[in-house]
Amino acid sequence: MTAWVDSHSHVFMADDPLAAVDRAVREGIAWMLVPGVDLETSVQARTIAAARPDRVGWAAGLHPHDAQRWEEEAGRLSALIVEAWAVGEIGLDYYRNLSPRDDQRRAFRDQVQLASDLGKPVIVHTRDSFADVYEILAEANLGEQAILHCWTGGPRWTKRFRELGATFSFAGPITYTTGDTVRRGAAEAPPERTMVETDTPYLAPEPHRGEPNRSEWTAFNGAMLAEIWGVPGDEVARITTETAERVFGAPRG
Ligand SMILES: [Zn+2]
Repeated sequence: MTAWVDSHSHVFMADDPLAAVDRAVREGIAWMLVPGVDLETSVQARTIAAARPDRVGWAAGLHPHDAQRWEEEAGRLSALIVEAWAVGEIGLDYYRNLSPRDDQRRAFRDQVQLASDLGKPVIVHTRDSFADVYEILAEANLGEQAILHCWTGGPRWTKRFRELGATFSFAGPITYTTGDTVRRGAAEAPPERTMVETDTPYLAPEPHRGEPNRSEWTAFNGAMLAEIWGVPGDEVARITTETAERVFGAPRG
């Protein structure tokens, strides 16, 4: 069976996270990276990784939706980030604007700076915020350690972030009938700097759109990339796994 790495799974939201990890492994997932979205879920991500060290990596960070809590959580989150594989999920969301944009920019900048100081990758959520995300990542100059999670940019933004040296990660939207822009963007993503993910439990790919997502469905997103790039699925699995292990490190169970 072809093995995939799910570069972004909030598996702590499953009823039984460890059972969900074990099922994904049986169904062809080599390992998954579990990013927190705040202090509490980053601790949960660490606990899951500790229980399945050969199958789970983890990241700690404050999501843009909760950026207004940065002052409050910064101290404890920063301590957790020192132990984590990566900093995330962080970023800017100007679509939902659940935290004020100034707060979002402050929390994002601070966490990017922390990652840069520690030499760790960042996992970046970008929604209706390409220009500001670009500016902050360009200042930090992280190269391939800047991971654009659930990348939905079209060709123009994909080329700009490609020139920045960023890594792209594709989720369910690449499979949607409405995903034409995403697919045209993916055609411009460098295969050696591309990963696949589910963003579980969100964004289930076709033919499961609307259901709670699961890590093993990473394969549907990988299959679509294979179609776009015109290469065999096995080759996409191999190269995206290589990228995940270069950028995040391999599980050390
Ligand atoms: Zn996410």
